[in-house]
Amino acid sequence: MRDFSPPPYRIKMVEPIRRIPWKEREKALLKAHNNLFLLPSEAVYIDLLTDSGTGAMSHFQWAALMQGDESYAGSRSFYRLEQTVKNITGYGYVIPVHQGRGAEQVLLPLLVKHPGMYFISNMHFDTTRAHVELAGAGALDCVIPECHDVQSYHPFKGNMDLCACRSRIEGHKAENIAGIIMTLTNNSAGGQPVSMENLKQVSELAKEFGIPLIMDGARFAENAAFIKMREEAYAEFSIREIARKMFDLCDIFLMSAKKDGLVNIGGLIAIGDDEALFGQCRVRTVAYEGFPTYGGLAGRDMEAMAVGLEESLELDYLTHRLDQVRYLAEPLRRAGIPLQYPPGGHAVFIDCKEICAHIPYDRFPAQSFCNALYLESGVRTVEVGSLLLGRDPQSGENLESPFEWMRLSIPRRTYTYAHLDYVTEAVLAVYEKRESLRGLCFEYEPPVLRHFTAKLKYV
Ligand SMILES: *Cc1c(COP(=O)(O)O)cnc(C)c1O
Repeated sequence: MRDFSPPPYRIKMVEPIRRIPWKEREKALLKAHNNLFLLPSEAVYIDLLTDSGTGAMSHFQWAALMQGDESYAGSRSFYRLEQTVKNITGYGYVIPVHQGRGAEQVLLPLLVKHPGMYFISNMHFDTTRAHVELAGAGALDCVIPECHDVQSYHPFKGNMDLCACRSRIEGHKAENIAGIIMTLTNNSAGGQPVSMENLKQVSELAKEFGIPLIMDGARFAENAAFIKMREEAYAEFSIREIARKMFDLCDIFLMSAKKDGLVNIGGLIAIGDDEALFGQCRVRTVAYEGFPTYGGLAGRDMEAMAVGLEESLELDYLTHRLDQVRYLAEPLRRAGIPLQYPPGGHAVFIDCKEICAHIPYDRFPAQSFCNALYLESGVRTVEVGSLLLGRDPQSGENLESPFEWMRLSIPRRTYTYAHLDYVTEAVLAVYEKRESLRGLCFEYEPPVLRHFTAKLKYV
């Protein structure tokens, strides 16, 4: 038997994808000014840009869409979603929102009581950091140092460094800490999980100082699966039980349901027992998202999310899901390609710093690799390195990222192992000719979030 976990589903509807010829890919990339964000999706064969909102829904979800109640207030679909979230989390209060950042913009400013406050996180996701800063607070990351030791095994590279966290709290004083945010899994570090033991200790720390503990749980189910696989004390518990223990340790749950909600759009705020905070969130939801029984979603979207949340807790699904990531990472690692190891729950992160050592950081080595991979194969990936990082606001200099990642995100229930084999072959082919890759510079550089719309040219 070959060593992999076969998918617990079969295909009943297909979406054609086409690999356009090399010459057309060349033209498309040129037209996109060497920025893969500017490619039309029709020029892409296998799209590993993100796992966010790109997954496939089940026939149960498609059937649930038909039952959407589109009432403005008091929609039946809302009550169904609310009950599902209460059952999974054990929390008392639920608000749907249009996606994860909607939850952030509603909740986070409510926790910032005065100027000079901070959030502490294992690692803030980009949009979370942006909303922390927009709320006038600072964002401090305290992930364990092993997270940055890319090629060494650690079962829970998303863990909080407890000493660093405590010293940040004591240094800034507890009354200046607006909240502790645990990102599960740790997206920016490659979908690295957090252990139950670590979450417990963070929870105790938060209680000791009276600081609310927020779970940024876009991938809470994937995190629970890693706990079951790697933390012995939890091997015999179901995913649902493990998830429940995770929720018991936190006070507030924010979620981009575009990940483990198994839907194309949607998000959630759930609050344990702070009724006053829930009331404040409802007020802000009306202003920013929509009436609190739809929060920017159609009734049918809430139906699909209610079903998706349940499906994301199925062990067979999660086993296959995590195995796809491992399956993609393994042959690349065997070939000597440096990557975040062990791979996380949703993506393979390849470090192009060494691979393209002849390209300086401000000529964007990972972007060069991503572009070459697209030309080679029609596979779209994304740079997470110095191009994304941007410039120092004071000096205007390009900042140097510690890693030059090429991220290959795997959408849920979307591609087969055969697709992944194709991606592996393509990455290996580009790796073989890595010395011929050239750096890039700007033809046009936007003032903020430059990677999305930059125009690049080869130097
Ligand atoms: C995706 C994500 C968000 C933001 O959610 P959107 O749905 O993209 O707005 C926040 N936190 C984490 C950990 C995420 O992965």
